[in-house]
Order: sequence, then structure tokens, then C-alpha cells
Amino acid sequence: MTAVRFPEKLSGSPGSQDARRGSIFILDPSKRCEPSAYLFTKSVKFFLANGYGMAKNIEGSEIILVNTCCVTEDKIAASKAALDFARANGKGKQIVLFGCMADLPLPGLEREGLICIGPKNLAELDAHFPHPTSVSHISVHQLPPALYEPGQGLGYGDYFIMMAQGCSNRCSYCNIKRVKGEVRSGPADTILQEVRAGLSLGVRQFALLADDCASYGRDLGTDLTQLIERLFTAGDNFGLKLGYVYPQFVLTHFDKVERIFGTGRIRYVNIPVQSGSQRILDLMNRRYPVDKVMEAVRRLRAAAPETTFCTHIMINFPTESHDDFLKSLDVADAFDEVLFLHYSDNRDTVAAGLFPKVPEPEVRRRLDMASDYANHCKTGRSAVIKDFNCDIPYNMVETRKG
Ligand code: SF4
Repeated sequence: MTAVRFPEKLSGSPGSQDARRGSIFILDPSKRCEPSAYLFTKSVKFFLANGYGMAKNIEGSEIILVNTCCVTEDKIAASKAALDFARANGKGKQIVLFGCMADLPLPGLEREGLICIGPKNLAELDAHFPHPTSVSHISVHQLPPALYEPGQGLGYGDYFIMMAQGCSNRCSYCNIKRVKGEVRSGPADTILQEVRAGLSLGVRQFALLADDCASYGRDLGTDLTQLIERLFTAGDNFGLKLGYVYPQFVLTHFDKVERIFGTGRIRYVNIPVQSGSQRILDLMNRRYPVDKVMEAVRRLRAAAPETTFCTHIMINFPTESHDDFLKSLDVADAFDEVLFLHYSDNRDTVAAGLFPKVPEPEVRRRLDMASDYANHCKTGRSAVIKDFNCDIPYNMVETRKG
């Protein structure tokens, strides 16, 4: 288990390296999820800003931070392995479990002796660790390479503002919803202040971060379009990137969404259609008419020709036929960038109980076809992810190049 090498510059508050309060050691098998990387970066900064040091190895630490991910069973296994390593090598040390595994009810996960800080409970750090600076006063806007591996359309150069956590949908395969529950949004005033502060530093593009941007405001009686219009009052010299926007939102609010896109100020959007097959979408419990969504996407592209449009497509969902799969390749055509994600069962989800599963030879065939599509039709702008733990996407391994 390798240690996370943490950049000196992020730890740059006075006294952060003197370990007055003990030293931390980081294990982080998460990394590919922007919301998780954002929250974990904030947690690490909390320790460094409050006089904790950074241990060079686990033996030299007093506190072990384990950041976890539950997006697939593979990621859960990697997260459990990191925790086992921390336990085996951390006798007498404090072990802090971060990320989605801290809140996912997992049978057999022994929590005794751990401090569990789930994604929505970062404020609890204050209660466990002495601090002059509360975690609520730690600000984070950029994600460091040590804690984040960029995904589609978002990267180290982006200036992130987390506006909400949780989701108002109920997709049948999703562990995020099981962990994070209903949406909890940040007040528009606070987000506006963050934009103004960024503008004063010269930032001209902001990446709005949420598990589902389209769920923003459900708990506050507002919505994403109202937030964006409010943010635009800060000036006309900046643009926005939108993480995940659940497709039904685009239909429900089409006129306002089209007007906002027509400003040319939405630089990037991910509208995760997930499948081109209505039957599969229904089984996913994603209740939107895919034909209408695709028509809306075409109109938005016409309104905003400079915007980068992205989507996620899940392949090999239970019962998916070859025709269903081909329909997904069709919808992929409408986007600039596509991330094909191989389905795998998440224990205790509705989708895990759906049969038949796609047979293994057919799984491989579709992964290969998606790879050929990504490599030839969207060269350099798409990826096929079979396993979230892999360093190299499936379509980019040597044998699939060309
Ligand atoms: S929209 Fe995304 S986060 Fe929400 S339930 Fe569906 S897959 Fe999960």
C-alpha cells in the first residue's frame, strides 16, 4: 500500500509541518470522484492548517486518514484493503475513515475504534481533533494531483465550488444515493460569495460541483437555473462548468436552460444519458423519455455551439440486448465526449437483483465495440472504464490502440 505524496504547497499554513499535534498519514484509493476529492482535500487541509504534520510513513504517524469510495464493489474492496492495511500497521493510532464507505451500511465492516466522517458530516472533524481553525472555515477550490485523478472534462486547472451533496433521484444501480441520501444544497448567497471571491483573484471559469447538479435547490425551494442566473449577476466576464445534470431537468426547465446556454457562458456540461434504450432506462429507474432528451440536447448544442457536451453511457446493464447497446452508441454520437462505464452489480441495489446478466463473452464484445467507437469516432475525447481501480481505461490498453 503506497503512501500518498502530498504537495508542500497545499500544506502551506504556518506551523503545518511541525507536527505540534501529531502527524497524519494518508491512504486514498478514491481519487477519481470530484466530490470525494474535494471533501478529502478540505479534510487534509484542516489537519495541516491546524498544526498537524505530514508523516513520511505510516510508522511515523499518529493519525491515519483513509479516504474511501463505494461506486462499485471493486472500489469497496480497494477501500476495505486500505482500511485493513491501516489497521494492521496502525496499532495505537487514530484511524479516520472518510468518503462514502464511512456511511454505507456494509455487512461485516467493523467500525469499532474508527472515527467515521461521512461526506455530509465533515463538520464532525472539529469534535474529534483540537483545532484553532474549524473545518467550516477551510476553503478549497483546486484539487491537488496527490488526491485527485482528473475525470472527463474536469481537471487540475479547474476552480471548484461545491454547491450541493446528495441526489433527488433513485437510480436502481446507485450507491451514491444510498450513502448520501436526499440533496442538501448550499445557499445561493454563499455560492455567489465564492464566485465573487474567485473573480477578485482573476478566476474566469468556475466548476459547479454536486453529485447531481440538477438536484440543486430541491431542499431550498429553488433550482439550478435560478442559481445560475443569480451567479451571473456577479459579472459578465466568467463562465461555468456543470458536473452532472440529470437529463429530466433539461426537459422540465428547457426554455430557461436554453436561454442560459444561449449566453455562451456554460463552457462544459455533463448530461449523463446512461442508455439509448428506453427499456433499459426504465429498469435503471431513470424516468425520462430518451428521444425527447436527445432532441433537447440537439437544440442546446445549436444554442451553444462552443459548449463541450459530455455524457455517461452505462453498458452491460442487466438484460441489455445487443440492440439496446447499439441504441446507446447512437445517443453517444450527439456528444463531444463520452465516458462508457461498464455495469457491475452493487450489492443490495435493485439492479443487482435484475436478471439475466449480460453473458461474459457479450460483455467483452460490447466493451471492445465501445472501445473501437471511443478510439475511432471520438478520438482522444472518450474512454471506456471497465474497472474504476485501473490506471488505464479499457480502450487505451496497448492491445486496443489503433
Ligand atoms: S442521478 Fe446519479 S447520484 Fe442520483 S441516484 Fe442516479 S446515479 Fe445516483
